[in-house]
Amino acid sequence: MTDKKTQVAVIGAGPGGYAAAFLAADLGMAVTLIDPEQNPGGVCLYRGCIPSKALLHVSRLITEAAGADAWGVSFGKPKIDIGKMRRWKSDVVGALTSGLGRLVTQRKIDHVRATAEFLDDRSVTLTDNEGKKSTLKFEHAIVATGSRASKIPMFPPDSDRIWNSQKALDLKTVPKTLLVVGGGYIGLELGSVYAAIGSKVTVVEKLPHLLTGVDRDLVRFLHKGLAERFESILLNTTLTEAKIQKNGVKVTFREQDEKPQTRVFQQILVAVGRRPATDGLGLSKIGVTLNGEGFIQIDAHCRTTAGGIYAIGDVAGHPMLAHKAAYEARIAVENIAGKEVIADPAAIPAVVFTDPEIAWTGLTESAAKEKGITVEVTRFPWAASGRAVTLGRSDGLTKLIIDPDSERLLGVGIVGPGAGELISEATLALEMGANATDVALTIHPHPTLSETFKEAADIFHGTATHYYRPKRTKK
Ligand code: FAD
Repeated sequence: MTDKKTQVAVIGAGPGGYAAAFLAADLGMAVTLIDPEQNPGGVCLYRGCIPSKALLHVSRLITEAAGADAWGVSFGKPKIDIGKMRRWKSDVVGALTSGLGRLVTQRKIDHVRATAEFLDDRSVTLTDNEGKKSTLKFEHAIVATGSRASKIPMFPPDSDRIWNSQKALDLKTVPKTLLVVGGGYIGLELGSVYAAIGSKVTVVEKLPHLLTGVDRDLVRFLHKGLAERFESILLNTTLTEAKIQKNGVKVTFREQDEKPQTRVFQQILVAVGRRPATDGLGLSKIGVTLNGEGFIQIDAHCRTTAGGIYAIGDVAGHPMLAHKAAYEARIAVENIAGKEVIADPAAIPAVVFTDPEIAWTGLTESAAKEKGITVEVTRFPWAASGRAVTLGRSDGLTKLIIDPDSERLLGVGIVGPGAGELISEATLALEMGANATDVALTIHPHPTLSETFKEAADIFHGTATHYYRPKRTKK
């Protein structure tokens, strides 16, 4: 065992960990970044956000090309070369992760390919990929170990017939029939990819809606689109049994009080959520407390219950999103650098990259109801947007949640192609404390989908140009 020393040890090199390591190095600290992969990237770049979006881009192209028939352009049935598609996805991942590797070198960060376990509150044992151990002493540590896919005990984990999101992204085959277990964003995004390249996709969700917790006004557009592309969407339906057999997996479902049904699927994708990656870190030894859901408990400074140890990203709580991890990285590092900063974002945007996309930021209508907050809601349908109609995409909506007294914007939800790009303007507006008049008086370029944000604000005043709703008078 050789002993090394560092100022800041960052455990895990996902979008939280590498952002923290880069900033700490930029602020002049000696940094060691620990992760088993060759380059930084974590789940997001190797087996999450980036490969899934690369494949979703291809599936969107296929769907758009099929729709072009109505405009007098016919491309015919697409020929799918799955090997080429896989290589393209891997090239995207390779380009981005090797770019991060170069940034590690330029910043003179010590990148150690290993797994870390706390020995005590000032040192970790590092086990490299060959099993060789060493010790690293640190002044501060940032735990950024992310999350892992949750499993369902009914499915044997080692069967080729059962995929998690990582295996689905490997794109080894295009199954004739695919059952997606779980109607959350990961299942719907990957289900959309496989449906576009030829699989008959069924989604089973035990709750009454797809994307539980997401505004129903937004989800209904997506549900309609997916109902056309997927073979079936089974809601309120529970899986009761699964048997691996030669030709696939025999699955039994039960929809509420209905009789159980049995079907055989060539492939199953289990996408039932993710759990924090805290196993094997030795956290209990050093007094790091986990909360009831198994996340590392942190305060607004991203400090854990053990002095000098911080936690960020998926391992430190919801929402489990890459940009939330990167935001927390800044908070943790600035605190280590001696600044008194806290995490207090006005809003954390979330995007579902399906077709249409769904994006929201800040307060939702249902959360306002639950919390008893009085709000005014305005909805601008994309059927009234010139840009949306030129794209042949009236299947969208921009929705604002506004405080009726101060006119302050409290939340925004958008469904439609490009919603993920549009939501940033809304998030900036929330961060800047904008009100409906600020948004309405901001000149938006024409014809763009961004105008739907301005027009939704105009609706609040009863003055939208392309939509008629008289101003509501206060009771
Ligand atoms: P991670 O990215 O999970 O990285 C953690 C790293 O720590 C990993 O490299 C892991 O190997 C390493 N590690 C774990 N334990 C140890 C240890 N003991 N020692 C050393 N290293 C360790 N989020 C979005 O915002 N947008 C999206 O579009 C999106 N799409 C997704 C699609 C899929 C299919 C999946 C699975 C996830 C997606 N996510 C998306 C979620 C996103 O990937 C995570 O929120 C994000 O990666 C969390 O970043 P992190 O830094 O907390 O950890």
